[in-house]
Amino acid sequence: MLKLSNFIGGEFSSLEETYIDSYDPSTGKVYAQIPDSSEHEVNLAVEAAQKAFQTWSKTPSSTRAQIMYKIADILESKLDEFAKAESKDQGKTLEFAKNVDIPRSIYNFRYFAGHILHMEEKATVMDNIALNYVQRSPLGIAGLISPWNLPLYLLTWKIAPCIAAGCTCVAKPSEFTSVTAYMLCDVFKQAGLPEGVVNIVFGKGPKAGQAIVAHPKIPLISFTGGTVTGKKLNETCAPLFKKVSLELGGKNANIIFEDCDFEKAVDTSISAAFSNQGEICLCGSRILIQKSIYNKFLEAFVPKARQLVVGDPRDPKTKVGALISKQHMEKVLEYIELAKQEGGVIECGGKRKQLDGEFNDGYFVEPTVITNIKPSCRVAQEEIFGPVVTVHPFETEEEVINLANNSRYGLSCSVWSENGRRARRVAESIEVGYVWVNCWMVRDLKVPFGGVKESGIGREGGEYSMNFFTDQKSICLAN
Ligand code: NAD
Repeated sequence: MLKLSNFIGGEFSSLEETYIDSYDPSTGKVYAQIPDSSEHEVNLAVEAAQKAFQTWSKTPSSTRAQIMYKIADILESKLDEFAKAESKDQGKTLEFAKNVDIPRSIYNFRYFAGHILHMEEKATVMDNIALNYVQRSPLGIAGLISPWNLPLYLLTWKIAPCIAAGCTCVAKPSEFTSVTAYMLCDVFKQAGLPEGVVNIVFGKGPKAGQAIVAHPKIPLISFTGGTVTGKKLNETCAPLFKKVSLELGGKNANIIFEDCDFEKAVDTSISAAFSNQGEICLCGSRILIQKSIYNKFLEAFVPKARQLVVGDPRDPKTKVGALISKQHMEKVLEYIELAKQEGGVIECGGKRKQLDGEFNDGYFVEPTVITNIKPSCRVAQEEIFGPVVTVHPFETEEEVINLANNSRYGLSCSVWSENGRRARRVAESIEVGYVWVNCWMVRDLKVPFGGVKESGIGREGGEYSMNFFTDQKSICLAN
């Protein structure tokens, strides 16, 4: 049985006393044990991070970048190993882990290593009175907390800008998916990352996570996860005046006009709905389709959803793997039952997928398409975070803008139209942090990423991440 240990001050610790079982979602069997860390381990990690901050914050950016490029290179040389581990730990297909999770994790380090080599600060001359310039300094020890859906991808999306900026950190991945974070610690050692710059403490949210969030020596918290957790976390941080970045849930509209590139819209909508079993915060889980092509869309979309192979995540034919946990699978199935009660028609799927042999107890759910449901129903309003989409007709541009904005979330949206002016008009009217026109999940790490409403606070990516992890002091020099 794989047994993880915390990574504190550059060493794998041996202090752990209690452990949490970690399941392989495709088999439903325990295969690893995760330290159930408490405040004590978090305190040790903070001490190590504090010590490391003294030197790392003053280390030249060229040296920090060099180490980060090395981390990326080592990770790349182990891409297959990491992809296999991520797939086993999370239930996602090996193909997805190989093509999305791990490449993006590598790119996170490369991107921010490059970014700090090219950063410039402005100085402004104020008539003949003064010169102003900005002194940028790393803020200290960051608490980094990440979810289970894109484990290494989202953890490194925080660690990379944090250490690039000269901060040190105490990070905690989800207790459901800790294995690749543990493997990454070895990469840090091999790359020569000084001890204590990154400390990883494993464990549960309300215990280890809460200890990080409440720690008085951690002035900034970057969190990605559910909206309910984000709210709790913010309640702890606000009275302590902590700087907070919250990347939370979504219920993203996928708006398809009659003048779209139909085939591309259908194919991309399949990916937007079912990639990673629908367990991506950016998934297009509310499809809003113009009435004139509503039937044509369903005739093309539903058979494609039905044909998606659900099964062994390692099999290259598989497109939909296992959901993260039994509890989450049950939640997704409850939403499907609720849809029926709300008058919904299940066009395809709607059930747990029972597989044979070693996958008999795996947490598989069939890709499910639901129609005939009011946009105000719970199923169309709440984040299901599984392979489930609702499809709704609309007639006018004005109507669809209202439908899309009728959500407490505001993370992302896709708009499909070959009419550039319309696409732009709609994109500019949707209350979200990111709109994709004629595409989905095309990510440029330079641009701001984040949500509005209950999808979060703050922006990450490029200079936005740098602004989060650093303090900017204005210095005014009089003539
Ligand atoms: P979650 O909120 O349950 O957990 C996220 C992390 O927070 C985990 O590491 C967990 O251990 C920790 N945590 C839980 N309670 C805590 C507490 N009281 N104090 C401190 N830490 C705590 O979320 P999840 O179920 O792991 O992830 C799914 C959610 O994440 C979905 O809502 C999804 O939309 C969201 N998400 C958002 C983005 C984004 O970029 N906006 C990206 C991915 C996932």
